[in-house]
Amino acid sequence: MSFPRACIIGHPVAHSRSPVIHRHWLAELKLEGDYVREDVAPEKIASFLAGFATSGYVGANVTVPHKEAAFRAVTRAEPVAATLKAVNTLWLEDDRLIGTNTDVYGFLAHLDESLPGWNTRTRMAAVLGAGGAARAVIHGLIERGISRLVVVNRTRTRAETLAAELGARVTPAGFAELPQRLKEIDLLVNATSLGMTGQPPLDLDLGPLKSGAAVYDIVYAPLETPLLAAARARGHPAVDGLGMLLHQAVPGFERWFGVRPKVTPALRSLVAAELGARERAQ
Ligand code: NAP
Repeated sequence: MSFPRACIIGHPVAHSRSPVIHRHWLAELKLEGDYVREDVAPEKIASFLAGFATSGYVGANVTVPHKEAAFRAVTRAEPVAATLKAVNTLWLEDDRLIGTNTDVYGFLAHLDESLPGWNTRTRMAAVLGAGGAARAVIHGLIERGISRLVVVNRTRTRAETLAAELGARVTPAGFAELPQRLKEIDLLVNATSLGMTGQPPLDLDLGPLKSGAAVYDIVYAPLETPLLAAARARGHPAVDGLGMLLHQAVPGFERWFGVRPKVTPALRSLVAAELGARERAQ
């Protein structure tokens, strides 16, 4: 008997928590199906995706470093993926590969859930980073009408390129300008890899940050990053990266397995425990 199978494509991919999320939903909803990891080396990704229709999978998530390759491989990209030029969710329609990007959805869904009405209180936001995740975050903020955005990046030219692409609402900046910017903003988002396990810490003094400003760190390993701990200690609302990871998985599951799953406290505890166990083992 055949049942739908999906996968997460990355390189490396052993660290991915996506199988835990999707298998939890399959079990909770009593659906037949499976979700596995596919480690595909960069030189093999084009041929893997070209043959996807005969792979036996109904769809896939795509993670680092293959999101841009997946965008190039699809027959049709949904508008959000075309804007980001990156695909993280694939499915088949009449054997044609279709792709979208659910990072914007995941970023916004977790922010809405954590701080309802946040956008009505946010006139200006700063985003740290100018990589793939930062692009999704910035597009989410623009979609919600945030009128002024500062993009702060180590490599300033990347921030400048993003700003040139996105228009007058976005101002590029370097880390040296950040203390001044912190006084003006209502939302700070870390979308760099700083603070992630195995990466350098994000060394940032939140002293100048505007009173009441929210801090969202999309890094989820560790779950409680030093940035979030510092924000909480100063009384700022703090939003972690795990919710984004969980919410971005929802649209793909619905497409492949036919039921829209819920992000519940039980799922969050399960994945947080897995992440904690991994941290302790390292
Ligand atoms: P990426 O495209 O490689 O971008 C990395 C960003 O971090 C760049 O802006 C880079 O600056 C900056 N950076 C790296 N090392 C740095 C350093 N030593 N000092 C200063 N800046 C540094 O990665 P990404 O895909 O955007 O992912 C970024 C983070 O977001 C990762 O931690 C990832 O796990 C997380 N993420 C979370 C979710 C979620 O669901 N919660 C989803 C996607 C990503 P330069 O341009 O100067 O190199």
